[in-house]
Amino acid sequence: MNWQRSVHPAVSFSAYLLAIVVPLVLALAVVGSSPALLAMVPEEHRGTVASFGEGAARVSGGDGGLFRPAHADAANSTVPGTAVPLRGEWSPRRAADIQPPAGLIAGVDYAVEATEDGYLAHWPCEHEIPVRSYDAPPGSESDLAWAVETLAFASGLPLRYAGPGAEGEREGDGAISVTYGDHPMFHTHGAAGVGGAAVWPRGLILRGSVTLQPEQITPVPGDAWSRSLTLHELMHAVGIDHAGEFRTEIMTSRRISDTQTILGHGDQFALRLVGCL
Ligand SMILES: [Zn+2]
Repeated sequence: MNWQRSVHPAVSFSAYLLAIVVPLVLALAVVGSSPALLAMVPEEHRGTVASFGEGAARVSGGDGGLFRPAHADAANSTVPGTAVPLRGEWSPRRAADIQPPAGLIAGVDYAVEATEDGYLAHWPCEHEIPVRSYDAPPGSESDLAWAVETLAFASGLPLRYAGPGAEGEREGDGAISVTYGDHPMFHTHGAAGVGGAAVWPRGLILRGSVTLQPEQITPVPGDAWSRSLTLHELMHAVGIDHAGEFRTEIMTSRRISDTQTILGHGDQFALRLVGCL
């Protein structure tokens, strides 16, 4: 629908959401690990928060740590088959170590998520990261697959479009869940899509989440806006934040064009930073 596509703040507002969501996720990792603090969380969200806390405990070593032997993972994983990095397979990256190439400016041409203590948020490289869809409308599949392949190629991340997911896998660890449906931010901020990653201490990402408004996805495969929006939100799910306003980047916080589907130079550099090349 053209009238919706012309609402440019939609994408910039999803940025907003991200700016709020990521620290919130970090906070949840703390909140969920404390029963006293958990009591402050509204009842309907406690399951979610508690599972975040559990993940945080796993990473920080509360139950032996994330980097424990493989057999322990198999026994303790809450989701069978979940990809969990093993010892030595993931190492933190310091945001301070980043030197952009000449011509690219951090915060203008690109931005990446980092923890408060300066670690870059990024996925492990050694396990396939399935991207699963939920309630995908007709015609959306090939555009999602295109976006996943574009990101895998540009970043080296082992992303794979895995088709529709089973309900029990939604928002599970080791994967990116792409849901076509409603989100509170669509109403409060006019966002067209929302994307983010759950970031554990030292920047480890083990879960990505994207919600796309079905009305923003054209039933005709190959539509530039559908592709651009999908690509943008997926980039949030791999730890990339917004570039400055009116940049020729998929991650620009305010769009010049609704139809850009080609990664900008800043996008490409950000994908290298969070990637595996
Ligand atoms: Zn955004």
